Amino acid sequence: VNSRLAPMGTTIFAEMSALAAATGSINLGQGFPDTDGPEEVKRAAAEAVLSGRGNQYPPGPGIPELRTAVADHQKRFYGLDLDPDSEVLVTAGATEAIAAAMLALLEPGDEVVAFEPYYDSYAACIAMAGGVRVPVQLRPPTFRPDLDALRAAITDRTRLLLLNTPHNPTGMVLTRDESEAIAQLAIERDLLVVTDEVYEHLTYGPEHIPLATLPGMRERTVTISSAGKTFSFTGWKIGWVTAPPELVSAVRSAKQFLTYVSGGPFQYATATALALPDEYYTTLREDLRGKRDLLADGLEAAGFEVFRPDGTYFITTDISSLSDEDGMAFCRALPERCGVVAVPNLVFYDDKVASRSLVRFAFCKQSDKLREAIDRLSGLR
Ligand code: PMP
Ligand code: GLN
Repeated sequence: VNSRLAPMGTTIFAEMSALAAATGSINLGQGFPDTDGPEEVKRAAAEAVLSGRGNQYPPGPGIPELRTAVADHQKRFYGLDLDPDSEVLVTAGATEAIAAAMLALLEPGDEVVAFEPYYDSYAACIAMAGGVRVPVQLRPPTFRPDLDALRAAITDRTRLLLLNTPHNPTGMVLTRDESEAIAQLAIERDLLVVTDEVYEHLTYGPEHIPLATLPGMRERTVTISSAGKTFSFTGWKIGWVTAPPELVSAVRSAKQFLTYVSGGPFQYATATALALPDEYYTTLREDLRGKRDLLADGLEAAGFEVFRPDGTYFITTDISSLSDEDGMAFCRALPERCGVVAVPNLVFYDDKVASRSLVRFAFCKQSDKLREAIDRLSGLR
């Protein structure tokens, strides 16, 4: 493997899910729900296959039904008017969207400013595109962005800001004031913004504010989302990009040579999913809010320091009062010790000191699983 990818190693999600399977542990590591999404959406996928829709290559930008459904969703929830033909692109999950955006928008040596911790594919995709990542750290207990540090990180080489709200792994949700301040910086320094909003519907208090809705931002913002988290079908890998036509077209230039197209029948089913009534989205959020509280309370009682998240389905904890190990050693030993799998936050950091004792747990699991996991973790001290 080349020198750009060698430092990336194996993704932690593969390692920890394999460990969960090998030890029969409860997997609170990799973020995927243990209950599938709505029946009618599954049926839509099956019907698409059986009726021969999407079994052959779909159109490069995605099927028109899905592009229209994405545009309708952006209008319904955020008041954004998008042209489904020129301002929406369907991708193989948000993961491909991130990769294609980096490959399309960066010149070798361009700097990308991103909040640290960052989702692990960011570093790899920036590196594959020949870019240079410039982390700006979010610090416990609130993980709120330091806007002066963000300003200081921007140089003449900065090409874009890579944002993520709601934020994996901290659960931080950017406020309107913070988003406006970031937008102001992007406009002042004439930067593009690539914003990963895959957890857009998973907020438990603060409202999700898409960067593209702020004045002056739409023309410089590439927004990424996906069906995985909102509809609980992470295996389908249907994602999308919304952006002005020039930026969609740029991302498509890269995307066409990565996968060309993907997931034909699942594109039809995802169009059905996006049209679900508001009640679906509200119920999903309320269900996950209850699970957040269940797991957060349980982890606290078990002796973890808990940073209760405002969004996503992850809880970051500090293990210092339970163990002297670093998060990696702790997570590798945890299945043996008590039959639970978690993920060390240090894989999301360049700064391995600041992140040493942070460990992430996912709560997108059935409540009885969460209760059993808490029970097992309670024996740690
Ligand atoms: N971005 C973030 C912040 C994520 O947590 C994930 C994990 N689902 C992704 C992107 C990847 O999304 P997808 O599964 O749609 O590729
Ligand atoms: N986004 C998920 C997480 O953070 C995992 C996705 C993956 O396995 N690549 O856990």
